[in-house]
Amino acid sequence: MEKETPYDVVIVGGGPAGLSAALILGRARKRVILFDAGSPRNAAATEIHNFVTRDGIAPAEFRRVAREQLVPYASVEVEDARVDAVTPEGGLLTVQIGTRTLVARRLLLCVGMIDVMPDLPGFRELWGKSIFQCPYCHAWEVKDRAFGVLAPSPMMLEFSFVLTSWTRDLVVFTGGAFPVADDLRARLEAARIRVDERPIRALHEKNGHLEAVELSDGERVRRDVLFARPQQIQVPLVQSLNLALDEKGFVRVDAFTKKTSVPGIHAAGDLATMAQAAIAAASEGTMAAAMINHELTIEALSR
Ligand SMILES: Cc1cc2nc3c(=O)[nH]c(=O)nc-3n(C[C@H](O)[C@H](O)[C@H](O)COP(=O)(O)OP(=O)(O)OC[C@H]3O[C@@H](n4cnc5c(N)ncnc54)[C@H](O)[C@@H]3O)c2cc1C
Repeated sequence: MEKETPYDVVIVGGGPAGLSAALILGRARKRVILFDAGSPRNAAATEIHNFVTRDGIAPAEFRRVAREQLVPYASVEVEDARVDAVTPEGGLLTVQIGTRTLVARRLLLCVGMIDVMPDLPGFRELWGKSIFQCPYCHAWEVKDRAFGVLAPSPMMLEFSFVLTSWTRDLVVFTGGAFPVADDLRARLEAARIRVDERPIRALHEKNGHLEAVELSDGERVRRDVLFARPQQIQVPLVQSLNLALDEKGFVRVDAFTKKTSVPGIHAAGDLATMAQAAIAAASEGTMAAAMINHELTIEALSR
């Protein structure tokens, strides 16, 4: 019966973090099973940029190649399924997948984050196509075009200065959410960044791409692309585990071992950092896996 044979590691999440971790652990001859529910953060994007040797690869192709490269490591299993619950029990972790139960010595959470789409008509449809979070990932493709920034906070106003690397046609939309400090307004003006403080009514598209931002008085400001940072929340599994979170809502982990506040549970990738990028998640997954392997190997010597 599966419950009686502990896996060394159950990895939850098959994005760059989880897949990198599986590779390391497979090469270290650990018995691993990776579960993936199939809804990555970058689902709406057509290309991944900034992953050295993989610039421009489609997200699905990235995952396909990563899984293919796990095949030689027979101790690694990969399944498309959602992990529903995890319970620490007697120094092990019981993992529930539908009606099935597995036991593992360690759990590595690589589940990403959920981007909460704001209640702005048109936003959801344009996310990942004309609305992006990360300019390093997607601004090159739209350089010198008409950019907008959705800035519900002064932090996003500061962020807009960075975008002048890619365009000098920049409008920041605050929606009137906060008063713009005089010194900041002067710095924006000096950088020729326009500030629009009218409430935003809707986003309009043409052929699947942003055409204009409609404001409360009905005026439409033509824009080709928007940068925005939607609120992020943890996935239900992480919420159910009562892990300690930092003040921004990311899972608190030890910088080196990626241990969470719950013994036996590690976390790597977007769920544990604001510095979110595919190659960074892969790196965090690699680190977590190596540290888990180190611990498990030492433990096995004393069993
Ligand atoms: C629109 C968009 C475009 C982006 N473009 C780029 C880019 O060009 N370059 C770049 O470097 N970064 C880009 N990013 C960021 C990048 O996608 C993330 O940093 C990266 O995917 C994080 O990897 P991860 O492994 O932590 O999580 P993810 O890739 O999000 O993978 C997490 C996986 O865990 C699964 N999961 C969640 N809960 C469960 C559960 N209970 N059971 C089983 N599986 C579960 C999910 O279904 C998902 O497949 C983009 C992000 C967005 C939103």
